Amino acid sequence: MGRQWHLSVVLALFAASAMLAADVPRFLSPSKFWGQLVYQVKPLKPEKVVALTFDDGPWGTSTRQVLQILKEEDVKATFFVLGKHALMYPDVIADIVKAGHAVGNHSWSHPYKPVDPEVAKQEIENTSALIAKQSQAQTRLFRPPAGKLTTGLVDYAKSKNYAIIMWSVETHDTRPNTTAADIVERTLREVKAGGIVLLHDGGGDRTTTRKALPTLIRRLRQKGYRFVTVPELLQLAVKAPTAKPELPPTPTPEPNLSPVPRPTPESLPRPEQMPTPPSSEPQ
Ligand SMILES: [Zn+2]
Repeated sequence: MGRQWHLSVVLALFAASAMLAADVPRFLSPSKFWGQLVYQVKPLKPEKVVALTFDDGPWGTSTRQVLQILKEEDVKATFFVLGKHALMYPDVIADIVKAGHAVGNHSWSHPYKPVDPEVAKQEIENTSALIAKQSQAQTRLFRPPAGKLTTGLVDYAKSKNYAIIMWSVETHDTRPNTTAADIVERTLREVKAGGIVLLHDGGGDRTTTRKALPTLIRRLRQKGYRFVTVPELLQLAVKAPTAKPELPPTPTPEPNLSPVPRPTPESLPRPEQMPTPPSSEPQ
């Protein structure tokens, strides 16, 4: 009797903890991709899947407008966010997650130049900690600012088993001369099954990107593409169920938010100071 009671308590606790864990959104990768650079994947089952990704948000109204378009078009996407922008727009990441999209870490302040290892750690840990604080979500997806692999951030992210998510289609959507039609045509020309498309919802005026988005989605659908988030895309490249996504084994240290100053509206980057378009990376 006593033993049965003990067992039922253990089972109840186990079930409760499993439910709690299930409530936490997790944007992870199968272990095959831990510490790996991912430009695109090869789905095991030949299937036209593509992941749309949006960088440099959250960015207030711009991100919300992108979310609205994605909702209308019934598409799930992936947002690579900056910690400093998440501080300015503290409700947006939770809304991204609630809408069923995935979130990845794009660093705190978008550094272009090499940084000290301690700064690299803060850039990544503080951003993941803020994402978790604002949305409960845990992410182990990292996209290096401007796709740069030698700033020290990728080294740190690799050491923590983040999947390093690059892209296979660069739309040049942040270049001043790019039109919505350019974005659509370039993507259609370059996309392949298992591809990752680089777009921007934040960091400046993203009117052109938003203008291109509905047409881009419809044209890709016409070509037979199905839209998935980056974690879903990664899953399609490994055998289920052996490669269930897991949190990497290395524990995340306690975040230390103090070294990064809280931005004031004046310190917000102006469009002309914002990231130049990421350069193409070799496949
Ligand atoms: Zn960026």
